[in-house]
Amino acid sequence: MTCATRQRVEEADKRINELEEDLDKASLLVRHDQLTGALNRRGLEETFDNEVARAQRRKSPLCVAMLDIDNFKKLNDSFGHDAGDAALIHLVTVIRETLRPQDTIARYGGEEFIIILPDTPYLDAQKAIVRLQRELTKRFFLHDNEKVLITFSAGITDYRSDDTQASVTKRADEAMYTAKRAGKNRVVTG
Ligand code: GH3
Ligand code: MG
Ligand code: MG
Repeated sequence: MTCATRQRVEEADKRINELEEDLDKASLLVRHDQLTGALNRRGLEETFDNEVARAQRRKSPLCVAMLDIDNFKKLNDSFGHDAGDAALIHLVTVIRETLRPQDTIARYGGEEFIIILPDTPYLDAQKAIVRLQRELTKRFFLHDNEKVLITFSAGITDYRSDDTQASVTKRADEAMYTAKRAGKNRVVTG
């Protein structure tokens, strides 16, 4: 290879690397929520499909939890929207650090999150979400050095053979609403 050819090859390699990095970034933006870094709806749908396929292949249990922050409107009203945003980031951080790395967190709506727990039977999923609840009471969210307690209501269900993403999400959502009606800050299975 001549010197000039080698240089052209190196330049092309560099350009390919740059394009690959851009692609990675774009893919991250498309699948993740900008505020919290959790998956967005689209990212959730893809991960859900993959996890269900894997669970079926391995015949392993899969659970889904729907979390909704309690009285979040009040938090926004009392401390401001930026504090609300910071609280969402705090929650996702605590979820990440409390659950296992293979568990998936997605922002389903404003202050609603879905967690997919692969290889997890019902009772273990329940224990994991209750552990998360306790962890949140220990790790206060700090706003202007003031401790703010964030609680959530959660509905948990297991994936069943005739389920679709929609049907399993609906069951988790209904269980979450049961938790709200029962007085909030609790975990209900459905
Ligand atoms: P409940 O205990 O019944 O769940 O009541 P809630 O106040 O949590 O629920 P509600 O659905 O009445 O209010 C949700 C609030 O979440 C309203 C909306 O302004 C706020 N919210 C949604 N997305 C964001 C966001 O990205 N940042 C902030 N700061 N607030 C948000
Ligand atoms: Mg809500
Ligand atoms: Mg709420």
